[in-house]
Amino acid sequence: MDRLWNPWRFQYVSKEKQPDGCIFCALPRENRDEENLIVYRGKSNFIILNRYPYTTGHLMVVPYQHTSSLQGIDEAAASELFLLARTAEAKLRQIYRPNGLNLGMNLGEAAGAGIAGHIHMHVLPRWIADSNFMTVIGETRILPEDLSETYRKLKAVF
Ligand SMILES: [Zn+2]
Repeated sequence: MDRLWNPWRFQYVSKEKQPDGCIFCALPRENRDEENLIVYRGKSNFIILNRYPYTTGHLMVVPYQHTSSLQGIDEAAASELFLLARTAEAKLRQIYRPNGLNLGMNLGEAAGAGIAGHIHMHVLPRWIADSNFMTVIGETRILPEDLSETYRKLKAVF
């Protein structure tokens, strides 16, 4: 289980938690998608690159609606969330040819959620050697690709 759930313990932004609100509510309202790393906007959800990725290509599918539970979004939004996770899988496979992917959600701080108030689904590519690599370097993320480059590649295929 540790291995499975580890990836999203490297959380988005505890540093950037805004005193005045929720970053997942704020970013899509700003209309600065490139700067905010939003690669796709659906009807009820958007897809954003994790600014502090566990691996290159670490995406998150996030409902526009602020809710801490899957019960808090309606069926259409829940379906779209899963469909976008499925699309994210396809795009990541297309661009990065990973050996595998992790998909998952942490609901609540006790489960490891960095932003507990607003649900989000992580979708991240994995390579055979990446966990060993991450163990060696610990919390310091040395990434083979610059975020703006990752953004450019993904934006082009979504
Ligand atoms: Zn929110």
